[in-house]
Amino acid sequence: MRTLIRGVRVFDGERAVPAADVVIDGDRIGTAAGAVDAVIDGTGKTLLPGLIDAHTHAFEGDLAEALTFGVTTELDMNNLPPVLAAQRRQAAERDDVADIRSSSMIATAPNGHPTQIMTPDLLKALGTDRTLDTVADPGEARAFVEARLAEGVDYLKIAIDDGGSSGTRLPALSPELAAVLVEAGHAAGLRVIAHTVTAREALIALDAGADGLAHLYSDVDEEQAEETAARIAAYDAFVISTITYIEAVTGDPNGRELLRDPRIAARMSDRSKATFGREWADIPMHSQGVMNASHAAAALRRAGVPVLAGTDCTPFGPVHGAGLHHELLLLTEAGWTPEQALAAATGTTARLFGLTDRGRIAPGLRADLLLVNGDPTADITATRAIEEVWRGGVRHRWAA
Ligand SMILES: [Zn+2]
Repeated sequence: MRTLIRGVRVFDGERAVPAADVVIDGDRIGTAAGAVDAVIDGTGKTLLPGLIDAHTHAFEGDLAEALTFGVTTELDMNNLPPVLAAQRRQAAERDDVADIRSSSMIATAPNGHPTQIMTPDLLKALGTDRTLDTVADPGEARAFVEARLAEGVDYLKIAIDDGGSSGTRLPALSPELAAVLVEAGHAAGLRVIAHTVTAREALIALDAGADGLAHLYSDVDEEQAEETAARIAAYDAFVISTITYIEAVTGDPNGRELLRDPRIAARMSDRSKATFGREWADIPMHSQGVMNASHAAAALRRAGVPVLAGTDCTPFGPVHGAGLHHELLLLTEAGWTPEQALAAATGTTARLFGLTDRGRIAPGLRADLLLVNGDPTADITATRAIEEVWRGGVRHRWAA
């Protein structure tokens, strides 16, 4: 099956092309030469690579919701092995769910973040009796990485968060243990991503050798943002944004704009809609976190540090799929151009996570595609005017 999308504006994962012909050839993006079986008129529309959310937690039903919103790949950043195995199996066998990569469970200190929220009761509600392993000494650190390797993880995730930015007190991995984890991960060829929420913790993680930060730091104001960004830029590392998550845990109601947007509300599940307004207790975050993280996003971009669009979506909110469209809006409100935001959810993320078969529109790559009405390189919210989603060349059938 060859489908031609004719005369469509293309955002290719890095930049915009005013008009092009793109062919979907089976599960791949083909070349425009030769006969086709179907033609789609691309006039007034924009074709993008399927979106990649660089920070998620995928439980039952989440990958289906993501795909409905054009998110064709989720990078899961902490999960429980039985849940993850089920989600990976679905992603391998089904066309109606987003693809997934994962760290499996996060390495943290005994009673460290996020064990205070991922309680046995919560995990039971999510369908598993498994709880998080923790790391107390170098021997446990190496055993932790071995266990994750046995699960076939795609990267490693560690937590360095002492709760200090919000006045909470949590045990955190020591810099020495973080370094042992990073070293073991790197020895096995894994990238290491660190959960940190303050600039101080970010620098501890980067000094330990982490390749990326799972959140923008949220405790540095506009005045200090440039200096902090310059320090981060001295490392060859990336940062995942998650302003959406910072909004959620600080009780900022701004994320509700999704519910007021009919393009989003029409597609969102009742389960996702019910997550808005949830109270987030016990999650360390600076009270001015949203504003600070926005300044950090702007300063890091100016300093040349890659920032990837991620939501930290969970089954309890922020919401899978739609949340990434909100994050893109927030990045433009932080001063980014729409093209910079779109690259942070497509080409840049694929490159930094070694996903060489996706994230761009070019012949031979996976046909993970999003066709929208209008021009999201001019108005970022046009990503929400979804016409079609293809996942590995299979057209997603969404029923209103
Ligand atoms: Zn997370």
